[in-house]
Amino acid sequence: MIDNLRVGEGFMDNMVDLRSCSIEELENLSLELGEKKFRGKQLFAWIHKGIESIHNMANLPKDFKVKLNQVSYINNMDILKILESKLDGTRKYLIVLKDGNIIESVLMKYKHGNTVCISTQVGCKMGCSFCASTVDGVKRNLTSGEIIGQVLTIQNDIGQRISNVVLMGSGEPLDNYEEVIKFLETVNSPLGLNISMRNITLSTCGIIPKLLDLAHRNLQITLAISLHAPNDVLRNRIMPINRVYNIEKLLDICKKYIKKTNRRVTFEYSLIRGFNDKREHAIELSEKLKGILCHVNLIPLNEVKESGLKGSKRERVYEFQKILKKNGIDVTVRRELGSDIDASCGQLRKGYIESMRK
Ligand code: SF4
Repeated sequence: MIDNLRVGEGFMDNMVDLRSCSIEELENLSLELGEKKFRGKQLFAWIHKGIESIHNMANLPKDFKVKLNQVSYINNMDILKILESKLDGTRKYLIVLKDGNIIESVLMKYKHGNTVCISTQVGCKMGCSFCASTVDGVKRNLTSGEIIGQVLTIQNDIGQRISNVVLMGSGEPLDNYEEVIKFLETVNSPLGLNISMRNITLSTCGIIPKLLDLAHRNLQITLAISLHAPNDVLRNRIMPINRVYNIEKLLDICKKYIKKTNRRVTFEYSLIRGFNDKREHAIELSEKLKGILCHVNLIPLNEVKESGLKGSKRERVYEFQKILKKNGIDVTVRRELGSDIDASCGQLRKGYIESMRK
């Protein structure tokens, strides 16, 4: 059984990564180590309280802790750097994984609670031209324990509960599907962090077979689609995935998703100066989305120097919003948080890695 449990990739081989285990897997591990099954639930509760040492699990027998230490570990992460916005308290974290890889997570403080934006891969292979996360490609997938570890690490750091999660950091969540699904089930567990599915947003560029599977799971999360263009000609130029799954196929699967889950879908649209922000683009987008239970989130683009793309001016953003509204589309402009710190997804990590290479 221990051999079948997920372990970290290339490090601590043959040791069980406790943060990546479900309750059932921890119950089986307890039985295998000669303990009662209920110890698995206790173990799960400790792990998801954010405890960083098996030794400190107060209600577990001493000899069980000794055995646990021999076969398993807690995949703790170190905070390398924190940048805090003086404007709104947004905190960007650079986090080091056990194998030395670096990922980025963000804490945003809203009136309705603390939200974290977390990564699902080290880098990303999807190649969207406006995104810093993809400049060096993907290094590896994160395990479910490393995805949940970001929430636990930040929660421990601020000493406050995290109530909302957005999977919108580095990586394409549906390109690491199994681990992301395990993460969703784990973070939602009442014995663990107990974060409601409705408080979780998963953002994807649109890998259709996985979206179909996700619809069938009917998880009640919020699905956010990175759309960023009103037609295939433009989307092909900035998002390579569109050559495989074009807008028509994407909107078709979104309709199926809505029918199955009864949940409104969000479309993310980054406004790029002179590229996708014209009046005719807003009209075309309105026509495409007409009749779909959806919401459009307009994002003033954060510049990534490699791409040369620039964000639209404020007036253009509001003009675009006005046209969508007039055409009956529910639309908001995303509030810019942390604009005084390295703001866009993947930029902080990239900047850090570059400075290390110099
Ligand atoms: S926008 Fe998302 S899917 Fe596209 S490259 Fe960046 S992280 Fe990957």
